[in-house]
Amino acid sequence: MTDEATPTEPDKNAPATDRQGSAESSSAVPVPQPPSAGLAIRRGAIKRCPACGQGKLFRRWFVMVERCPRCGLHFERIEGHWVGAVGINTVVSFAIMLVVLVISMILTFPDFPVVELIAINVAVAALVPAWFYPFSKTLWTGIDLVMRPLEADEVDWTKLQPDQGRARSTDGLAQGRAPSTDESG
Ligand SMILES: [Zn+2]
Repeated sequence: MTDEATPTEPDKNAPATDRQGSAESSSAVPVPQPPSAGLAIRRGAIKRCPACGQGKLFRRWFVMVERCPRCGLHFERIEGHWVGAVGINTVVSFAIMLVVLVISMILTFPDFPVVELIAINVAVAALVPAWFYPFSKTLWTGIDLVMRPLEADEVDWTKLQPDQGRARSTDGLAQGRAPSTDESG
């Protein structure tokens, strides 16, 4: 009754490539995870790449890099992309102008110093759009990512790891490059 083979026999004559030799090529690719809507907009609001969170996207205050140095996102996603940023900047600037005007009129209620009020609002109208300009570009790009999700070839998905392990869904993009286990049968 000794018909059992030795459990770990190193059969060194076998080529040993018949086990799962074809599953090594896609083992290092992490699961692609596009950022959530809130995360993309929050990143954009603080002048970071909405896709990956990379900062330092501006060489000067008004000069934005064309692509994210980390994930490779081309920020001008379509022609005319920055029209939305101009729109956001306009809305925000007018809102701040209105707030400043209302507050200054409340503070100087009976006798409005007209010249001073005009001067203040001219200054606000000149400074706020310039200050908000870079924020408007990244913020609009974040909103754009929410409306038009990232496509498969638009970013380096290996750079889009979640920041604090927020969501670990295993089917992040699931279009085209789902990590199918290569069980060669
Ligand atoms: Zn990026």
